[in-house]
Amino acid sequence: MAPAAMTIDVEDYYHVHAFKNSIQRSEWPKMESRVEANTHRMLDLFAETGSKATFFTLGCVAADHPEIVKRIVADGHELASHGWDHWAVFDQDRATFLTDITRAKHTLEDIGGTAVKGYRAASFSIDERSPWAYDALAEAGYLYSSSSHPIAHDAYGDPNADRGPHNTKSGVVEIPVITATIGKRRVPAGGGGFFRLLPLGWFTRAHRQAITEGLTPNFYLHPWEIDPEQPRIKDAPLKSRFRHYVNLSKCELKLKRLLHTATWTRMDEAYHGWIGGTERSDAQTGHGFASNAG
Ligand SMILES: [Zn+2]
Repeated sequence: MAPAAMTIDVEDYYHVHAFKNSIQRSEWPKMESRVEANTHRMLDLFAETGSKATFFTLGCVAADHPEIVKRIVADGHELASHGWDHWAVFDQDRATFLTDITRAKHTLEDIGGTAVKGYRAASFSIDERSPWAYDALAEAGYLYSSSSHPIAHDAYGDPNADRGPHNTKSGVVEIPVITATIGKRRVPAGGGGFFRLLPLGWFTRAHRQAITEGLTPNFYLHPWEIDPEQPRIKDAPLKSRFRHYVNLSKCELKLKRLLHTATWTRMDEAYHGWIGGTERSDAQTGHGFASNAG
């Protein structure tokens, strides 16, 4: 089977961008945390099926739950960064963004004892409002980003953006979430709420189509998507609640079935030709993290 990249954005249910007007950041410490247990369940599922993945982990989650970071690395998965605080990139200026992504990278590397090469923006939020983002990522020592979802969506995305991996001017490689096409139309195939809403066969067909086009599937989910018991955010907008809560109870089994449809692996293995090259080694990307952290 052709390789495909499985990616998990490690954040809690109350970090999501769609709830930002319903839950203030100052309330985060008071919320019931469920990310640790949910991430362990995902890691169990990957261990059962022999799958590997890249875990784009929030810095604030890593600092509060170092055990999951250590298990991600110990289980042979790729540790990557989802920034520190789940700010949309286009809501920050360059200096704030650079501080956020540097702090996240160093914290993850210190806890995990491994170099962090990859970054995913909160809510795929690198766009024309943040033209400095890739330069800042290069300055912080990242080699690749997976922050583009090239599809028509009201909250993010550009349906005309490149569907495959591409080099940016800064040297950072952008690897978009996978999409499929029906005629001239781009359709979702990359995961998240679409995965909970559409049948599994939609995704297996779309991934096969992508592979015949020479693309490697890049699929994503969140730990909270396999947690139907999570506390409900009652005053969030109806559309946000629908997208967040639809079919949560079926997602874990569906993910398990998906894991049998391809050889799921880490981003740096699935896209080795793009980001696994020897020209920039771990030694050059790390900041002198503790190699025996554990
Ligand atoms: Zn996120």
